[in-house]
Amino acid sequence: MPEAVPQTHELYEEIRAVVGAEHVTVEEFARRAYTRAPFYAVGGGGRGKIPGIVVRPGTTEEVAAVVKLANRTKTPIVPKGGGGSVSTFPPLYVGDQSNILVDTHRLNRILDIDTTYMTVTAQSGVILSQLAEEVSKHGFHTYTVDVPIHMDTVGGVLSGFLGGGEPSDMATSGTMNNYLLGLKVVLPTGDIVQTGGGPGTNIHQPRFLHREAGSSDMTGMFVGDGGSFGIKTEATFSIHPYPKVFMLGITDMGSRENMWDAFRELAATDPYPYTRLLGFHQQDGPWYFVHVIRAHTPEEGELKKNILEKICHKHGGQPATVGREILQIANMFSARRLGQQALPMGSTMTYFGEALIPMPQSLEYLDDINALLDETVGDLDIYKRIDFVVPYLRATTITGILLYFGKGTTRDEASQRLHEKALGGMERLFTEKYGGWTETHQGTSLAHSASVWAPSYKNFMRTIKKALDPNDIMMPGLWRI
Ligand SMILES: Cc1cc2nc3c(=O)[nH]c(=O)nc-3n(C[C@H](O)[C@H](O)[C@H](O)COP(=O)(O)OP(=O)(O)OC[C@H]3O[C@@H](n4cnc5c(N)ncnc54)[C@H](O)[C@@H]3O)c2cc1C
Repeated sequence: MPEAVPQTHELYEEIRAVVGAEHVTVEEFARRAYTRAPFYAVGGGGRGKIPGIVVRPGTTEEVAAVVKLANRTKTPIVPKGGGGSVSTFPPLYVGDQSNILVDTHRLNRILDIDTTYMTVTAQSGVILSQLAEEVSKHGFHTYTVDVPIHMDTVGGVLSGFLGGGEPSDMATSGTMNNYLLGLKVVLPTGDIVQTGGGPGTNIHQPRFLHREAGSSDMTGMFVGDGGSFGIKTEATFSIHPYPKVFMLGITDMGSRENMWDAFRELAATDPYPYTRLLGFHQQDGPWYFVHVIRAHTPEEGELKKNILEKICHKHGGQPATVGREILQIANMFSARRLGQQALPMGSTMTYFGEALIPMPQSLEYLDDINALLDETVGDLDIYKRIDFVVPYLRATTITGILLYFGKGTTRDEASQRLHEKALGGMERLFTEKYGGWTETHQGTSLAHSASVWAPSYKNFMRTIKKALDPNDIMMPGLWRI
C-alpha cells in the first residue's frame, strides 16, 4: 500500500506568492513523480522520499526567497536537478514529510558564451547536452559528463558527483571541477554568494578570469556537496577550442600482464597520447584497449597515434580484429547507448563494484570484486560480465565489472540480491581495503563516504555546515555524521 501523504503545506500560500501558482504544487501525483528509484530499489527501500511540496523557481532571487521562508519554519529543503541520481532520491533519511523539493528546471538559460575570455555561464538547470551543443556552435568544447548527458543538469552534476562530474575524456581531462571558474549559490540562509575570481572577489571585474584570484578557493567547497551547502543557481566554466580530429581504435593486448604494462606506461606519458583509454576483457578472453584520440590537426592526431601504437606494440599489442562481439562490448561501454545492443539478451545491467582505486592496486581490486561477484550473485543468470579499468589521470583508476544479467534473472531479483549480499562487501572492499571512494556524492553513497572521514575532518565539516546552515534545513543529515 502506498503511504498516505498530506495534500497541504504550511508554506504553500507564501511560496505561491513568490513563484506563481503554476510553479508550485502539493498535488500527490506530482510530488510522487519527483521520487527516483535506483537499481537497488527493491532491497534499498524503494523510491525516494515523497516531498511535501514541489516548487520550480525561475530566478536566483526566487530560490533565495523560498529558502528564507523555509528558514522561518525550519522546513527541510531538497534541491533537484535532472534526476540522474544513482541513489534513491530524495534520500529516505533526509528531512521529513514536509520537505520542500526545489526543482531547478526553470533555471534553464545559458547566460553568456564569451569567446574572447573563453568562458560559458549557465544557470544550474541547464541540461548538459544543451550546454555542450550551444558552446560547440561557437567552435568551442566544454567538458560535460559522458552520460546521462541529456538528463544531467549543471547544478546536479556539480553537486552530486565526484569532482563535479566525469567527462568522457576523464582519463586525461580530470573532472569538470578543473574547468569550473565560479558559482552563484543560494546559501542555506537565503543569502546569495558569487564565488571565483571575477565579480564576486573584485567588484570592479564583471568577467570570470581566474578561479583562485582574490580569495581562497571557495568554489571547490560546493563541488560534490550533495546540495548540503546551498542551491547552485549559476556556474561559469572555461571553454576550449573544439578538437575537430577524432580517432578511435581497438588494440588486442593479449594477456593481462601485457595490458597492464602498456596501461602503466601510457598513463605515465606526458603529454598523454590519448584522450580516452579503457582496458577491458571478458572472462578467459584477451584484454583489449579502446582508445580515443582528439586533436586539432590530423598531424597532431597521427603523432599521438604513433606514440600510443608504439607503446602498445612494445608490450605485445596488435590491432584488434574487431568482430561483432568486441564491437558489441565496446558499444556497451558507450553509456550514451546504455548497452542497447545487449539488452535484448539481458534483463538489466549494473557496474559491479565500480570505484575510484589507487592505480597500482587496480588489478588486485578487480580480483577481489570478481571473487565477491562469484560469491554473491554468481549463481544468477548472467549474460555478460566484463572487467574494466580506466585511468583517471595518473594516480587512480575507475575499476569495476560491467554486469548484464540474462533474461533468467529478473530486475527485482538482481536488485534484491545485490543490495542484500553484494553492496556492503563492495563498499568495504573499496573504502577499507583499498582506501578508495565511490564516485557518487549523493544519498547513501555520500553517507558511506562520510563514514570513513577522519574525526578532525568530520568536525571541520560539521563546523562549516553549522556556520552556513544554522537551522540545518539544507539536505539535513545527508552525511549522517
Ligand atoms: C546510467 C547512469 C550513468 C552515469 N554515468 C556517469 C558518467 O559517466 N559520468 C558522470 O559524471 N556521472 C555519471 N552518472 C551520474 C550523474 O552524473 C549524477 O548522478 C548527477 O549528479 C546527476 O545530475 P542531475 O542533474 O540529474 O542531479 P539530481 O539527480 O537531480 O541530483 C543529484 C544531487 O545533487 C543535488 N542537486 C541537484 N541540483 C542542485 C543544485 N542546483 N544545487 C545544489 N544541489 C543540487 C541533489 O540534491 C542531489 O543530491 C550516471 C548516472 C546514471 C543514472
